[in-house]
Amino acid sequence: MTKDQFIAAIPEAAYLIASLLFIFGLKRLSSPRTARSGNLVAAVGMGLALGGTFLLPDMGNFGWIILAIVIGSIPGWLLAKRVKMTAMPQMVSLFNGMGGACALFISLDEWLKGSPHFTGLSDTRLAHTFPMLLGIVFGSISFTGSLVAFGKLQGLVSEKPLRWPGQKIINIVLAMGILAAAGGSGSAGPQVSPTTCIVVLAVLALLLGVLQVLPIGGADMPVVISVLNSCTGLAAAVTGFAMQNMSMIIAGTLVGAAGSLLTVLMCKAMNRSLAKVIFGSFGGGGQAQAATGSSDKTQREITAAEVAIMAGYARKVIIIPGYGLAVAQAQHLVHELEELLEKRGVEVKYAIHPVAGRMPGHMNVLLAEADVPYPKLLDMEEINPEFEQADVAIVIGANDVVNPAARTDPGSPIYGMPILNADKAKNIIVIKRGRGTGFAGIENGLFFGPKTRMLFGDAKKALQELNTEVKAL
Ligand code: NAP
Repeated sequence: MTKDQFIAAIPEAAYLIASLLFIFGLKRLSSPRTARSGNLVAAVGMGLALGGTFLLPDMGNFGWIILAIVIGSIPGWLLAKRVKMTAMPQMVSLFNGMGGACALFISLDEWLKGSPHFTGLSDTRLAHTFPMLLGIVFGSISFTGSLVAFGKLQGLVSEKPLRWPGQKIINIVLAMGILAAAGGSGSAGPQVSPTTCIVVLAVLALLLGVLQVLPIGGADMPVVISVLNSCTGLAAAVTGFAMQNMSMIIAGTLVGAAGSLLTVLMCKAMNRSLAKVIFGSFGGGGQAQAATGSSDKTQREITAAEVAIMAGYARKVIIIPGYGLAVAQAQHLVHELEELLEKRGVEVKYAIHPVAGRMPGHMNVLLAEADVPYPKLLDMEEINPEFEQADVAIVIGANDVVNPAARTDPGSPIYGMPILNADKAKNIIVIKRGRGTGFAGIENGLFFGPKTRMLFGDAKKALQELNTEVKAL
């Protein structure tokens, strides 16, 4: 091998190693224990792929590329450093949108570079052109859809599902327009240039991204983000095909597949079809079923001192963290409670529902951040058989994920959703601020049950009081 051949082979080798690192990193992301290093491994892979790209023979404009990297990296690094756990979904959405924008602009650039030689759909360049068109469409939808999702979660756009007459018909017309523009780009006559068709295609797809996400309630955004995530992966993969870049194909496929799997898992854990999420049902306050039925019944209160006695002298306590715990940022206090109880000889475990909180893995990450040992975090399937032996189940800012109506009431919007069997514990303590409903907007019979006592208050404040009382036992 000559020196020139060796240098020419470096980018391909870098892409191959990078792809392996992406796969290895993704595998490590599947457990909280290894996720941090998995992220680092994948980041090293991305660095390698970038480095390899710099060595491609037809690379130029290094100054501009480095400037773009600096402009992108500084805000990215600052945002990632400062983001609160509760603001993670919108951050993921923003980053995902940037991925979509990249696929869009790379595909557009490829098109503009190649279009003068393009002579119609029968051209042998079809294999190159078709992925480019897909890259533009998926990249555009993902870009604007993710920005709207970000706006909704950040409170910049109304969280409520925005609806207008003829919504679905408008989206169908847009989709048909996209198909027509794609066809036109290959067979346009002298009146309409292929490039005009491509610009129309991109504009329509950008609009479709906005119009498809606006009608979805803010609370459903994590699922939407996950769908858009797979869309970005797909966009990157097809753009990789257009550019014949192996690393992009593999990375895009991994992202696309991971996003799709996550979407399926979330929908299953909420017992809702993807169509119901995308075309609206509960969530975001729009169509939520009113909290009815039990509103005239009474919820029995308890004081922090009484909870301390109950839990402090128990043999087994199961803690169920929910969205309210995340909002209150009470993860460190709950860990303190766990340690205080364990010092007294109480066995303490955490019950983690797959969709507790507002994004997948929310509770695991939050509690890991507070140094709760991983073996104490038990998945729903593992912990459910243990509730019957638990003396106390402490529900903190959770609601839907412990609502027995999911098991017993076929009329309930959450019927069929797998839940944590907190109601099977000998005693149930619920910490929440008042009679607010959860994400699904429905009443929870558990809060009115004979074994349940309510400790009203913000999760952080209530846990502070509870911990003080346990220390005083
Ligand atoms: P939830 O059903 O939304 O209930 C949260 C409860 O926390 C509310 O009833 C609220 O009652 C209480 N709360 C709010 N702020 C609080 C605070 N500062 N201190 C104490 N309590 C507070 O939450 P969840 O049980 O965790 O269920 C998650 C829901 O989100 C599920 O329906 C799930 O399907 C949905 N979801 C999850 C994901 C995901 O991936 N994780 C994605 C999309 C949707 P008060 O107002 O009375 O305090």
